[in-house]
Amino acid sequence: MVFKISVNKEECIGCGSCVSVCSESFEMKDGKAIAKKPQVEALDCEEQAKSICPVNAIKIEEK
Ligand code: SF4
Repeated sequence: MVFKISVNKEECIGCGSCVSVCSESFEMKDGKAIAKKPQVEALDCEEQAKSICPVNAIKIEEK
């Protein structure tokens, strides 16, 4: 299974929470979070990052 990970740049407020819990998949760039990898083969901390994002800017799609 492959999952596409993305961050909505317009919605992200740059709080850094996703990076704190899941630095393997998220990093900060220009004050916003970005997905380090466009897709992953298994979900690990990505769902936790999605659940703690205060503005629901993280999207995980099954492909
Ligand atoms: Fe942006 Fe959400 Fe990550 Fe905070 S948790 S940096 S708002 S994507």
